[in-house]
Amino acid sequence: MRIACPYCGERSLDEFLYSGDATVKRPDFASPTATEEFVSYVYERTNPPGMHRELWYHAAGCHAWLVVTRGVATHQITSVEAAREVALKEKSATKDTK
Ligand SMILES: [Zn+2]
Repeated sequence: MRIACPYCGERSLDEFLYSGDATVKRPDFASPTATEEFVSYVYERTNPPGMHRELWYHAAGCHAWLVVTRGVATHQITSVEAAREVALKEKSATKDTK
């Protein structure tokens, strides 16, 4: 498998570290149900077939965090985005809806 880093270009999987599901959000510590929310956040994950958005770290390259959209059965990668840009887009979208 090869990943096209937005900064370095296409590189071998050996240069990257997988860091989990990119769609889960850390619960709020101040929530009255924080304990239950953290148990779910840490331990309860689904693993459906199809496309997943995953966090990858370019450890042997530019050290960027990436959001990779990948088919878990085929390993087909349909997009690679800098995690920083994804977070900025989500923050902007949240502001627009408030
Ligand atoms: Zn890179």
